[in-house]
Amino acid sequence: MSSLTAKQSPRRNRPGIRAEDWCSWSTPPLEEMDTTLAFQQLIQSRVRSDPTDIEAILQPPESTDEAAWQYEQLRQICLELNSLVTLLEQECTYETCPEMKADEWQYLCAAHPSPQPCCAIDYIMHTLDGATALLNSHRHFPSRVSIPEPSIKQFQNIARRLYRVFAHAWFSHREIFLESEFTNRTV
Ligand SMILES: [Zn+2]
Ligand SMILES: [Zn+2]
Repeated sequence: MSSLTAKQSPRRNRPGIRAEDWCSWSTPPLEEMDTTLAFQQLIQSRVRSDPTDIEAILQPPESTDEAAWQYEQLRQICLELNSLVTLLEQECTYETCPEMKADEWQYLCAAHPSPQPCCAIDYIMHTLDGATALLNSHRHFPSRVSIPEPSIKQFQNIARRLYRVFAHAWFSHREIFLESEFTNRTV
């Protein structure tokens, strides 16, 4: 990792920083980033610069290990989902949503030895906790730059289940979904 020169500012918001300067550091070239964290830093800086430009955020850099790139995207989704879940907790309860539904589909929670009909907020918590634990599991993901073949197969399952959280928010808690989409600008 290269040391910081006078021109480069550390990626940190100093105490007393003005709002317009929040997270306003420039994106260093990929090759200057710490290699194990380079993808995460790149994704986060793209999200900061334009969170609506999904294509740009997802575009892998040239000659990238695609699995390692997808892995970092999933980690980022888990990070950002935490703020949506915090908002959902205020109104998604066992009383309002006794089943995990999106539109008319009902989903069983896979975070148990056998799938359970957890209520929506429990499903969401269990699913997010499970995905985060799996992605942080040293056994499945011993390195962030090289993903073992069997672990790559987990990506689709993780993405499919996490997607349902967005779907539930969209169909059952539209205002919270929109609030989260339009205010969740920092990572
Ligand atoms: Zn709900
Ligand atoms: Zn559950």
